[in-house]
Amino acid sequence: MGKICVVVGTRPEIIKVAPVILEFRQRGFHDYVLINTGQHKDLSEPYWELFDLKPDYNLSVMAQGSSLGIMTSRAFQQLDELFNEIRASSPIDAILAQGDTTTVMVSSVLAFYRNLPFAHLEAGLRSFDLMNPFPEEFNRKVTSLVTQLHLAPTAKAKTNLLSEGVPENRISVIGNTVVDALKFVKNLPVFSDPSFSNRELNSTFYNYERHVLITCHRRENHGGNLLELIKAVSRLAKDQQDTFFIWPVHPNPNVRSTVLSNKDLTSFKNVLLVDPLEYMDVIKVLSNCHMVISDSGGIQEEAPSFRVPVLVFRNATERTEAIEAGLSKLVQANAEDIIHDYYNFKPEFGKDFENPFGDGLAAKRAVDLLFQLKM
Ligand code: UDP
Repeated sequence: MGKICVVVGTRPEIIKVAPVILEFRQRGFHDYVLINTGQHKDLSEPYWELFDLKPDYNLSVMAQGSSLGIMTSRAFQQLDELFNEIRASSPIDAILAQGDTTTVMVSSVLAFYRNLPFAHLEAGLRSFDLMNPFPEEFNRKVTSLVTQLHLAPTAKAKTNLLSEGVPENRISVIGNTVVDALKFVKNLPVFSDPSFSNRELNSTFYNYERHVLITCHRRENHGGNLLELIKAVSRLAKDQQDTFFIWPVHPNPNVRSTVLSNKDLTSFKNVLLVDPLEYMDVIKVLSNCHMVISDSGGIQEEAPSFRVPVLVFRNATERTEAIEAGLSKLVQANAEDIIHDYYNFKPEFGKDFENPFGDGLAAKRAVDLLFQLKM
């Protein structure tokens, strides 16, 4: 009997792969190994515990100050050596990874080199701009070239793959496992405890009636775009003193130094600039939130589950389903536009509204398909 190698490296990958591992366990299936490449070591730690997961192998593809090229080459070398080590004790049946990071691209190419089936969770997302998001759009396209099992989250993602010539019998629309992860987290007893594990958030959150969540991390937004967002949030905070603006600041130095050194933004009592939050805290904020302004993929997918509108701080998004449903809106990187949309974008979430990204059963479907692939 061989093994399925599941490779993750960043915070969203752990969140979105966790439901698949939990489904393996639920079915008493233990022939898998969980590999952490450490692509985002500093952001990933709390997530293992939340989902009660423990990687079987920890790599360290990220070296201090390393370029994308060096990180990619470290990922190739370390993963390839690890696959050799794993194969020495039992054959590898398939490799699975989620999303569009360097970890995923490298895992898929190594599966191809070894003539192993690769299963791609969240397959088929496209912005149709190779430079944006960079390098993720490139990573996705490379991965799709060598994937046997395309686990597409939505019909739109399937259409994208078909238009690139992927045979239809290799694509299954399963929903996005992020909705499964949300369901899992909302069922934990700690979800009904209104307190937060972040102390700053805990001592301030309930002093305000209305809450806005802000995140920004993408390369395309470093520099001028980020300054426009800061300008907009500062103006909104000044004009809306009863509203609390919660901004977990990404550790990327290009983001952190710009946000935390801004004298205007840091002067407001109703703006909380805080370290990245634990997932449970984000979900609690979302469940009490008036609006989100974000460039995060995962948050765009999570917010509809809480009927929270999102101003998507990007030129284009590969997650157009919420935009087409009128629940999210792309916002220009310009303070006036952000402020205008903040006041004017008021989507209606109907009574029977459902999250367009998934129904919470994606992991079950993924595991059914993986077992067919393994046979
Ligand atoms: N997230 C988190 N803490 C934070 C900000 C985000 O746990 O301070 C979660 C968020 O709920 C979502 C995921 O991280 O599930 C998204 O990660 P990120 O924005 O880094 O990546 P993307 O989804 O854009 O690839």
